[in-house]
This record gives sequence, C-alpha cells and structure tokens, in this order.
Amino acid sequence: MKNKIVLLGLFAASALSFSQDKGLVANADSPHTKLHSVNLQDVQWTDGFWKEQYDVGVKITLPYMWDLYHNDSITHAYANFKIAAGLEKGKHSGPSFHDGDFYKILEGMAAAYAVSKDPELDKEMDVAIAMFAKAQRQDGYINTPVLIEERWGTLGPEELQKQLGFEKYNMGHLMTAACVHYRATGKTNFMEVAKGVADFLYDFYKKASPELARNAICPSHYMGIVEMYRTVNDPRYLELANNLIDIRGTTDDGTDDNQDRVPFREQTKAMGHAVRANYLYAGVADLYAETGEEKLLENLESIWEDVVYRKMYITGACGALYDGTSPDGTAYDPAVVQKIHQAYGRPFQLPNATAHNETCANIGNVLWNWRMLQITGDAKYADIVELALYNSVLSGVSLEGTEFCYNNPLNVSADLPFQQRWGSKRVGYIALSNCCAPNVTRTLAEIGNYAYNLSDNGLYVNLFGSNQLKTTTSKGDKLEIEQETNYPWEGKVTLKISKAPKKDFSIFVRIPGWSQNAEIKINGVAFTGKIDSESYAVLTQNWKKGDVIELNLPMPVELMQANPLVEETKNQVAVKRGPLVYCLESDDLSEKAEINSIVLDVNSDFGVKKVNINSREVVGISAKAFVENDDWKNTLYRPISKDKMKMDITLIPYYAWGNRKKEEMTVWLPY
Ligand SMILES: [Zn+2]
Repeated sequence: MKNKIVLLGLFAASALSFSQDKGLVANADSPHTKLHSVNLQDVQWTDGFWKEQYDVGVKITLPYMWDLYHNDSITHAYANFKIAAGLEKGKHSGPSFHDGDFYKILEGMAAAYAVSKDPELDKEMDVAIAMFAKAQRQDGYINTPVLIEERWGTLGPEELQKQLGFEKYNMGHLMTAACVHYRATGKTNFMEVAKGVADFLYDFYKKASPELARNAICPSHYMGIVEMYRTVNDPRYLELANNLIDIRGTTDDGTDDNQDRVPFREQTKAMGHAVRANYLYAGVADLYAETGEEKLLENLESIWEDVVYRKMYITGACGALYDGTSPDGTAYDPAVVQKIHQAYGRPFQLPNATAHNETCANIGNVLWNWRMLQITGDAKYADIVELALYNSVLSGVSLEGTEFCYNNPLNVSADLPFQQRWGSKRVGYIALSNCCAPNVTRTLAEIGNYAYNLSDNGLYVNLFGSNQLKTTTSKGDKLEIEQETNYPWEGKVTLKISKAPKKDFSIFVRIPGWSQNAEIKINGVAFTGKIDSESYAVLTQNWKKGDVIELNLPMPVELMQANPLVEETKNQVAVKRGPLVYCLESDDLSEKAEINSIVLDVNSDFGVKKVNINSREVVGISAKAFVENDDWKNTLYRPISKDKMKMDITLIPYYAWGNRKKEEMTVWLPY
C-alpha cells in the first residue's frame, strides 16, 4: 500500500525514499487510523467566513510575522540563526523557544505556498532553510541558544539545564515544519536538515540517562518525530517516538506540571501545564496511530473525558490556572504538593477573569482532537476541533491580523485590583511569550486541511465554509466538490458534486453536537437515513456530476448553563449560536455601566443583527438586560437591591472581542 518514490536530495550523496502523502498529517498509511488527511493543496477557500479569515491570515498575519521575526531590533529570531551560522557576531537574544516559533512561521508559509504556489514564498523559505543548514552542527543538533555559546566558547556544563530549555520544542517544530515544507514544495532541502535533527535525537536518546533524557518542555517533538517517520519511513524514528513515551515519568523528580511524575501509561487525568499536556496527548495519539498500543488510546480517552467533561471552558480553551498546586501524583501530603503553572486545574475549577487559557493550549486541543478524530472517525472529536477553532483559537488574533493574545480569559473587568502577569489586551509582539502568535498564524494557514478527511469508504465533511475540494480518493478516483455556505452565520450548507468515483461512494456529513433537528436533502429530496447530532450522516450512492447535497442546521440562540460544580458560573448563562460562543463587551452597552453589573433578561426577544467591528462584519445578538447598582466601593457584601435599570445590549462573537476601544468583556452573565 505504501506509495513511495525515490527522490534525489539536493545533496548528491543522499537518496531518500519519501512518502507521497501530502496531508498536514501524512497518515494515509498509518495502520491504526480510520481517516486520513487530504493533501495540503486540495482545499481552496472561495468565499465567506473562512475565506475572509484565511486571507487575513496569509496576506496580513504571515508577512507581518515573517517581517517581525526578521527585524533584529524587535525579535532577534532570525538574527539568532545568522549568529549561530557564524555570519554575524553577537549573542543570542529573545526567548529560548524563538527558533521553534520561527519554524512555525515557516510552516505557515509552506502551507500557504501549497495553495498559492507563490514563487516569492518559495524563495524566502529557501533563504531561511539555507541559513538553518549553515547553523546546524555536524551531528545534526540545532538550537541557537546553545550553538551560539558553543561558537564563542562560553557554554557551561549544563546539559540538564539545556533539557529544560526548550531545545526539544525547537527541534520538534523544525521537524513538523520540514515535513509540511516537503509536502508543499516537493523540495528536500529542509528535510535534509530535519533528518539530521531526527538522527541526532535518535542517538541522543539511545545514550542519555533517564535524568538527562526525561525532560522536554512543550513536547512538540513527539508529533514531529512521528511525522518524520511517516515522511521518510525510517523505522528508527518510530522507535524513538516509542522510547520518548517509555522514558517519561521514570525518574524520581518528575512533576505533575510536566506530566512526568508518573509514566504516561499510568496517567488517566489531565494535569499540569496545558500546552505541554495537549502537545503530549497529540503526540501520543500520533504514536497510537502507528503502533496501535491499546493502553495509549485507553489513557487518551480517559484524559479526554476528564478535559471535556470537567476541565475545558465553553470556548474550547484549556488551562484554567495561572498558578496552582497539584497533589495528584501522590496521596495527599502537604510536603509533596507541587506547584503548577499555566495549567489544568481541579475538576470544575474554571475561573473566568483569571483564566490562563494560552492560545497555544487551545491550538494543542485542536491538534489532539484532530488526531483523535482521525483515529476513531468519532464526531465528538470534530465538535471540539470546531469549538476551539471558532472561539478560543481565533480569539488569539485580532480581526486585523496583527495583534495577538497570549491568554484568552472569559471575563475582563477594569475593576480587578491586580495586574496579571500577561495583560488581557492583544499586542503586536508578546515579548516574553510570542509562541502563540506564530502558532495561530500556522493554524490559520492550514485551516483548509481540517475541513475534510478521507477514509477507505468515502469523504468526511468536518468543517463548513465555502470552498472547493479537489482531491483523490484512497482508491485513486478523482473527487471534486464545491461547498457553499454562509456558516457560521447561517446553517445552510450545500455540497455540489463535480467529480466522484463511478461507483457507490459515501459522503459522511458532520451533524454537530450543538445542532438539533438537522435536515438533509439530496437533489431536493429529503434524506430519510439517520441524522443524529454529534455524528456523521452517511450518504451513500453512485454520485453524478451536478448532484447537490443540502444540509440545514437550525441555529437558534441558545442559553447555556454550566454544571453547578463550576462555582464561578453559578446562576449565570453564556449565549451560543451555532458553533459560536458570544460575549458582551462594554462597547455594546446602550448606557455606561460596568460589565459585571449587567444581568441578562433571559426572557428577551433575542435577535440577530449585523455588527461592524474594524471593517469586519459579524453577526451580533441583541437582547435586553438589567443593570445593578455598580457602586461596590469598600463593599464586599450588601443586601440585594430590587431597583434595576433596563438596558439594551448587543452580544458579539467571543473571538471578536478586544478589537475596539473599551476593555471590559464577559462571556457569562447572571440572570
Ligand atoms: Zn503560546
């Protein structure tokens, strides 16, 4: 089944056998996955929400980030490579994960190139890749904070410290970016660098002591090394991925924060730093797709239930706590309670104003659920992919595409009398933690790849948005479909068949978990098969050119409540419509009032209306509210007052918050 081709690398000596699978995740040959990715260039956005968002992402955000990372006076990301390569003198500057973030931008460029074939992008990538090759050590190691110190002879004996210094994160993102670059361009220059890295890691983990090897922050290298295995089919890389999971949690000084107090095979709950956690889970899902080790999937499912039923925000965001403690790894003993940060909290511990919810954690949630969907074909994972993308991932970037959020809280109040470590405003460059900006950039450039999957039986339609799909089925037949929709503003979606296999073929249409009473028509005739929410409706027939599938998802305004064990949202509601979570911003109050004094009138006649925010049109929801007396000066408690002023309010999609002047916002409203 493997469809390999021998390519001569740019370096004459190496002849590599590379996979022809060109998906974001190249899992067509993965033995333990039901679905696989379509190729990167197979989906073109043509109109509507995702077209608009994709255009902002690749035409504004990508060049903005690329220039920013080349601007030595602000970020030093590219400058670090030049110094490491010996082309310039100087010191490493910027966070130690700068390399990895630069690779993410390059990955986004490659994904954009797959669709546009813009020769300028290709040229710019080649220049940067040549610089990586120049900076890379003979043994394949590349990590500029260390390489620069080596070059100037100032590196101390700090092997263990390096392990905690994001070097695996950097190398992991390099490998992923190189795989995407190869799939987009067909060129092997970046893969040659990545093979050096993968070989280095293979040797390193063979020899390193568990103490030396155990640690890795934000383990992007699990996903990276499995993707390398898929691309070049070198069994050593799969052995390494397995070894990385084996070695985790085998020393005495592991932490819940780093998910290594106990081995992964003993972990059944989500804990610790939410980016590290979600990256780990995504990487383990990749490993399962190749090895089929039941214990891995069993634990992933258990952890998933812990996250989705107890620890995730209504926006799909993860990582409730800025800082906290975790006694989970052992029987309760105050002496061994560990500090955790940017982390999953206790079950149902979901504060709103102090939520950490790093954009990278929310993207990690997408990466993980995307892999779970492909392993199982279960629509519940697609629901989380959609939820996080539309809400807590998109909220990470401004509507204009050049300002970013590190945290994605659900409440921002001007009265909160303390500064959190990171502000709640979007900024152009998050100086200490710019990991999120390039992460959201690459994710938006790759969004088309999430829209569809292929299986041996047919096509899975996961995301709705106007686009053109041109792909080849797993049996080699041409498949072309045009999707038209004004989703997420309206729930009508049409799929027009242009080319399909000349035999029975199934189209699996996702019926979102949030939807009720969905209807499907095929060429105007009602489909009478099963249409259940949180599943895929299976439409099987011998499709002809011009056949039309019409899906109708009613989109009423829904008032959502949280499990009463979530103390912070007791007697409050959040407003949802379709996949979008809404919020109230102080800009949309008809009278001056503080955001936390607004009480929603749940008997309002909720209406939808167009709202223009920074030249972007969104659909808002109008409602009535009451305003409570907001004078709480020197008051912690008081009798409730019965006089409440009435007021008109307009709610806007959560992802669009923070794009105007005022700064207060809330998702949950008392009623
Ligand atoms: Zn981040």
